[in-house]
Amino acid sequence: MTRKVDFLVIGAGPGGYAAAFRAADLGRKVVLVDARATLGGVCLNEGCIPSKALLHAAAILHEMSEAKDWGIAVEERPPIDLEKLRARKDGIVATLTGGLAGLARRRKVEVIQGFARFGGPDRVIVGDEELQFADCVIAIGSAPVRLPGWPEDSRIWDSTAALELRSVPARLAVVGGGIIGLEMATVYAALGSAVTVVELGPQIVPGADGEAAAILRASLEASGCRILTGTRVTAITPGKETVGLELSGAVEEHVEADAVIQAVGRRADAGALDLAKAGLEARADGTLAVDPYGRTGKANIYAIGDVTGGPMLAHRATHQGKIAAELASGHHPAPLSALIPSVAYTRPELAWIGQSLDQARAAGVKARAASFPWQASGRNLTSGAGAGLTRLVYCEESKRLLGATLVGTNAGELLAELTLAIEMGARLEDVALTVHAHPTLSETVAFAAERALGTLTDL
Ligand code: FAD
Ligand code: NAD
Repeated sequence: MTRKVDFLVIGAGPGGYAAAFRAADLGRKVVLVDARATLGGVCLNEGCIPSKALLHAAAILHEMSEAKDWGIAVEERPPIDLEKLRARKDGIVATLTGGLAGLARRRKVEVIQGFARFGGPDRVIVGDEELQFADCVIAIGSAPVRLPGWPEDSRIWDSTAALELRSVPARLAVVGGGIIGLEMATVYAALGSAVTVVELGPQIVPGADGEAAAILRASLEASGCRILTGTRVTAITPGKETVGLELSGAVEEHVEADAVIQAVGRRADAGALDLAKAGLEARADGTLAVDPYGRTGKANIYAIGDVTGGPMLAHRATHQGKIAAELASGHHPAPLSALIPSVAYTRPELAWIGQSLDQARAAGVKARAASFPWQASGRNLTSGAGAGLTRLVYCEESKRLLGATLVGTNAGELLAELTLAIEMGARLEDVALTVHAHPTLSETVAFAAERALGTLTDL
């Protein structure tokens, strides 16, 4: 059976539901297809939201253990009710995914559960139904990378399994020191696992400022994580009691773990959509090439979110989704901003935006960096938090801000001021002369700008 659809969205993650809802708000008749039973995609069901629910619990456990040094006696390791922790996380996910279903109903967006693939340049097949679309948005996201040759074993987890909180393994190996690996290391170390992180590259969180990553590393190590950079897993052998890992590189050793988290990146698989039938082709890495409006090259087919490669982040997917919906509906949206903020919700948080000093210099800009160490922040000291840093990258001639990195408590929230500043073309003076409340962590942003201008009196 063939049915006509005005605006079809494949995938109901943060990209897909934003595209669907925006298109409906612009008067389009929308059908939203997703293979899973709930809306929200990876982000709500098995990504951003459940991980942050567990990270919040981890932060409380950390604070409780730190508070004993200030005279607040708490038990060395408070009893942890895993079932309740799991139920809280699942409850938050259910609230949010259920909320999306309500928002879809209110907008009269028709939701179909099923796996979609193309049947022609203007049609998609879902189950035994063929949907002939006027416009289509591909928002099928990505899935965890599985290292070739790794065995199937219930003790080898991907991020989805790790977030299920099946148990707290006494010894946990985390392979991959990117954002997922370190967020999971933060959670399980707080819950009591002895965590070893194995990272192939020379630093954790590749792509982040090296000094900031070193501060995060020192803090994770202080909270009991062992971190091995420049190290490769050469063999993994599930045994009766434990899983054995052979490591080579910076260290050569054998590690026994009760569970292993594989967090070595995510991969898109656009090819699974039978793209050739739509006249499209996936790139070698499984992504679809698009322009900053989400256009694929086929006039009526757009692609957004993780399936388009680039930084695989929920907020990027959402912005892409709205842009594609607006363009397809006859509006003239601004293209996707090149400024996409990154935040690792570890302890402490690591957040960055825009260009690093090296990137700015490589682009031919006479760039400089100015930093403010959080050891000199009154608010940071009163909160009992450890080392932290706010670093600004700016053009020496124009004094325009080009990039920023923060590591410390709530770094992800503090990044918003700098994201707006850079987006608005702000100069150092704009930030330094804006009065920041005292004592706040946000002062470190102004202090770093003052330091660059030579007007700082707090160091
Ligand atoms: P997805 O959210 O991946 O959704 C795609 C949907 O498409 C899925 O529901 C899938 O079922 C459906 N689908 C796929 N193929 C088909 C098909 N053929 N037919 C029908 N349906 C299909 N990002 C952040 O910004 N902040 C974070 O804190 C953060 N934390 C994360 C933590 C973890 C553990 C993980 C794994 C990811 C995290 N991310 C985070 C990344 C974020 O989840 C993704 O960038 C985001 O979900 C991508 O959105 P999307 O719309 O492209 O697709
Ligand atoms: P990633 O690419 O960020 O990190 C993977 C890490 O694994 C890298 O450091 C890489 O060097 C390392 N690695 C690769 N192969 C390895 C090997 N064989 N042995 C050891 N280390 C190896 O990927 P991720 O952490 O899996 O995250 C996937 C995506 O999800 C990213 O795009 C990330 O931005 C997104 N995400 C974002 C957030 C957030 O915004 N807070 C949270 C989780 C995930």
